[in-house]
Formats: sequence, structure tokens, C-alpha cells
Amino acid sequence: MSRPDVVTTVAELRTRVAAWRRDGARIGMVPTMGALHDGHLSLVEAARGGADRVVVSIFVNPTQFAPTEDLATYPRDLDGDLAKLAGAGVDLVFAPETGEMYPEGAATTVTVGGPAVGLESDARPHFFAGVATVVTKLFAQCLPDVAYFGEKDFQQLAVIRRLTRDLSLPVSVEGRPTVREPDGLAMSSRNVYLNADSRSRAPALYAALTRAAAAIGEGLPSEAAVAAAAADIAAAGFAIDYVEHRDAETLGRPEPGRPGRLLVAARIQEVRLIDNIATPNYRQL
Ligand code: AMP
Repeated sequence: MSRPDVVTTVAELRTRVAAWRRDGARIGMVPTMGALHDGHLSLVEAARGGADRVVVSIFVNPTQFAPTEDLATYPRDLDGDLAKLAGAGVDLVFAPETGEMYPEGAATTVTVGGPAVGLESDARPHFFAGVATVVTKLFAQCLPDVAYFGEKDFQQLAVIRRLTRDLSLPVSVEGRPTVREPDGLAMSSRNVYLNADSRSRAPALYAALTRAAAAIGEGLPSEAAVAAAAADIAAAGFAIDYVEHRDAETLGRPEPGRPGRLLVAARIQEVRLIDNIATPNYRQL
């Protein structure tokens, strides 16, 4: 099956998208950092269903990595990614170099408050400014009608929804469910860092969230459910960054009668994994 066309400059991207738009096409975008897996492909499938033309961006965004993080070793495989996208109904891949995204002298950053405060930001204070800046740029470069993001990165999705509203960006943001391995581990490009022992322990994260969400649904107070999840996750050998129950939209305190979310970040063998789950029938104060 034929691989999608690839462009590397904003000018080429704009030319292609403008021609589709002249034909009245609805443009869908799936921003990624590559090393594609079935989670990414589920976003492509959703985009195929919701748009006439699909653009996938592949860019490992340096501004969302701290100097101590894994920018240099983050898995990159454009050729393999294009093979995975062959036959997936992608019209164009935008794979810019860093210099194309951040021209010499670049001095503008998009910072988001609200849902960007706490959780991931406690461990990675640089992270959401990098994400918000690159997503704003990608939206401005491609001008999609709709863009697809995974609930896997739940706080990121909330941040992108917030910034899109706050900056009046004419893009509708669609969140899609987390795609998991058969044992429950959320698919992630970083899972390749796990050794056999850590990989066998990793499903404990989702198992603990599932138990805690069910317990909350049965009326267990939120704090007790969170404490039980944390104990389960620590017992599996993880060092916990956070386990929190939050309001699913604002990511503030969970409110009775509103959708809630349990969110976790934990490290095993120096690999940091994140996951989250909806909490049903939240009634406690
Ligand atoms: P990344 O390449 O990790 O930056 O992710 C690109 C997009 O894919 C983001 O919107 C992620 O939330 C989404 N994504 C990553 N992993 C999954 C997954 N397991 N299921 C669904 N979406 C995912």
C-alpha cells in the first residue's frame, strides 16, 4: 500500500491544505511525536471519520523536554511511521525539522494556567508551555477544522481545549479513548524503554486505577480510593509522582455530580508512565 506524501515546510503544508480547502474539504489533523502505535492510529481513524482530508504531523518537540529528559533518545522512526500510515487513509504527513518550527530568534511561548497547573507540571514545569506553543503553531500552520488528541494524556487534552477556547482558535478539539495493550497497559511510544521485569509490572497501574474507580462508584470516599490505588501501585514497584482524583474538565477538586478522573504518574526502572480513568457516579464531597 502506498505511503502518504510527506512535506517538511510550512509553505508546502499550506499549499496542500489551501487546495483542499478551495474544494470545500473539511481538514482533520493528528499531531504526534512519531514512533507511532495503535493509539496514534486510532486518532487517524477518528480523523478519517470526521474529516475529508487528514494531516498527521510528526515532530519531536524539543521545547517540551527538560534538559534532563529523553529528547536525545526519544524513539524516532519516520520510515517505520510512514509504513504504519500506509493504507490508513492519511493524505499528508507534515514532518518539519526543528529549524522550521522554531526559526532563529524564536521568542514567543504560549503559557496556560488553569488545567496546566499541578499534576504533570509539578514534575515537568516546562512541559505544558512547550506543548501549548507547538500545538498553537501547528494549528496556525495547518488551519485544521478539527484536531484529534488522546485521553491517554488527559491533562494535555484539557490544556489544549483551554488554550483553543482562550485564544479563539477556530479548531474543534476531539478527545479519543486510550488504546491499551491486552493486559491493560496504555500504549505509549516510551513503553519500548521498559525491560522485561518492568513491563510485567506495568499493567498494575491501570489495574489499580480500575479498582479505585469501581470503588468510588460504589461509594468509597475519594481519599480512601486514592490511598488504596497508591498502595497498590507502590507494591508493584513504582515510585509515585502523583495519584489524584480531579474534576474531569477543570482538573480542580472533584465535585459531586460532575465527571471525575483519577490520574496517575509513576516511575519504574526510571521510565515514567502516566495513565488515567473516568470515575463513575461520583457523589462524595
Ligand atoms: P505523542 O506522540 O505521544 O505526543 O502522542 C500523540 C497523540 O497520540 C496525543 O494526542 C496522545 O494523547 C495520543 N496517544 C498517545 N498514546 C495513546 C494511546 N495509548 N491511546 C490513544 N491516544 C494516544
